[in-house]
Amino acid sequence: MLLHACYYKAGLKELGQVVRGIFVHGCRVTVFSIYVHVPCLYGNRNKWDIRSMETFLEPPRQVRIVADADICVVGGSCTGLFAAIRAARLGARVILIEQRGAFGGVATISLVNVWHSRMDETFERQIFAGLSIETMERLKKRDAVRCREGSPDWEWAFNPFELQIELDEMVRENRIQVMLHTMVVAPCMQDGAVYGVFIENKNGRGLVRAKCFIDATGDGDLCSRIGLETYHNEHPQPPTTCALYEGWQRDNFDIGALMRKHGEEFNLPRGFQWGAPLPGCHTFMLAGTRVTGVDCSSADELTIAEMEGRRQVRATMDLVRKYRPDVPLKLVGLPARLGIRETRHVRALHQLTGQEVLSGVRFPDAIANGSYRVDIHHQERAGLTFQYLSGRQLYIEPGAPAREDRWRPVTEVNPTFYQIPYRCLVPPGIPNLLMAGRMIDADQAAHGAIRVMVNMNQTGEAAGVAAVLALESGIPVDRVDTVKLRAKLAEGGSVML
Ligand SMILES: Cc1cc2nc3c(=O)[nH]c(=O)nc-3n(C[C@H](O)[C@H](O)[C@H](O)COP(=O)(O)OP(=O)(O)OC[C@H]3O[C@@H](n4cnc5c(N)ncnc54)[C@H](O)[C@@H]3O)c2cc1C
Repeated sequence: MLLHACYYKAGLKELGQVVRGIFVHGCRVTVFSIYVHVPCLYGNRNKWDIRSMETFLEPPRQVRIVADADICVVGGSCTGLFAAIRAARLGARVILIEQRGAFGGVATISLVNVWHSRMDETFERQIFAGLSIETMERLKKRDAVRCREGSPDWEWAFNPFELQIELDEMVRENRIQVMLHTMVVAPCMQDGAVYGVFIENKNGRGLVRAKCFIDATGDGDLCSRIGLETYHNEHPQPPTTCALYEGWQRDNFDIGALMRKHGEEFNLPRGFQWGAPLPGCHTFMLAGTRVTGVDCSSADELTIAEMEGRRQVRATMDLVRKYRPDVPLKLVGLPARLGIRETRHVRALHQLTGQEVLSGVRFPDAIANGSYRVDIHHQERAGLTFQYLSGRQLYIEPGAPAREDRWRPVTEVNPTFYQIPYRCLVPPGIPNLLMAGRMIDADQAAHGAIRVMVNMNQTGEAAGVAAVLALESGIPVDRVDTVKLRAKLAEGGSVML
């Protein structure tokens, strides 16, 4: 109908060539065959002035099927890669598609080199294991990770470049088919299920076919393009451009104080600065910028955010050059992508709430355990708020003493960890689609806690195992037996509580 209308509008009469292909419209896929003399679409400008059109019907084309797998994981952060590894270790043929040139997501391409504690909030009980620990153990052999125990801030600070290479090794060892520099651009749906994903890369457009799909794109690109219900929390956490510096002086150099004093002169927002050294070298990762009021799931706003983040990095350098010329600070590394904390979430069978997290609700279908506090980087004001399972609350405003109070009255017994149920990874209505990572269904407070990588990694591992179980039993993902899922996860090295 659309095609017909368009050709009619264009006044095209010379149709003389057969074009066959797949036409995707919303969730529908139609295999078509039409007659069209394609060059005349472009050649006959006086009949059809494309400059006056608001939308343009892309000429149909043949799309090559470039890969076939049991499970296709979209997005190659540790979340996506760990999904792929767990599925591959259970014998599935897995393909992993990543838009950038390396695996690891925020941990590598955005330089965020810190993972949080494996222990509960009281540091008495180990609450997760699996591939997060396996990966850190591998990095230890290369002196590429610094470990410390008993801190709510971080347990591991690693070298993100060593991690990139380690993840390549893990891909090879687990025989996962991978595509780097490849973007998933659209779903291909058939009979209400995902039949394949259209990709774009240096070879052009192609279709990757699989029996089950895992959206690990952070932004929920695949789910959103399928047309599933998505939402943004009211104050999504702002993105930050991290950067690597040399000549960092640990003593007598307080970048936070400097920025508070002179930041306005350099148009630097009053945010929150933190950082971590790269182990074994003199390079320091500073997360010292904050871009507010942008939605990084919008291409236009992501562009603005990237440039604004880099401007703030330069402004930080200029500020140091002007007010602390004695500090030999050098900018030595920028991220391939700014660090994105939160964009869209996808509606699932269950929305995890801050209340469930903070009261440590135990779920029969729990697939992940976490103890990282609710940590909200404010979009609308400076600083951040920490809320602990013990009932403590801390508001940290740069330059002011931390304000401590309670979000709930003192109780005799406190939960020491929280859980993420499998249902938060299952979007309703699509039998062969799961999600893992920061887009899972969670309200603002819940997201503020579960978003850290050791938690997201566990959602990846669970999605990978659940996809295999669904395929083995020939059932939709929402009917996976979660007792079996938890048992399989435990068998593969996860801690199930
Ligand atoms: C500045 C900052 C500091 C943080 N600090 C910490 C911290 O100290 N410790 C911690 O644990 N967590 C921290 N977090 C949170 C944590 O890093 C993120 O919540 C987590 O990494 C999200 O993981 P993810 O896999 O969902 O998304 P991502 O890591 O963003 O991964 C998504 C992947 O999918 C790929 N992708 C996206 N779209 C497509 C597509 N269409 N086709 C193909 N590939 C695609 C991306 O390139 C990327 O590799 C921080 C976050 C930020 C931004």
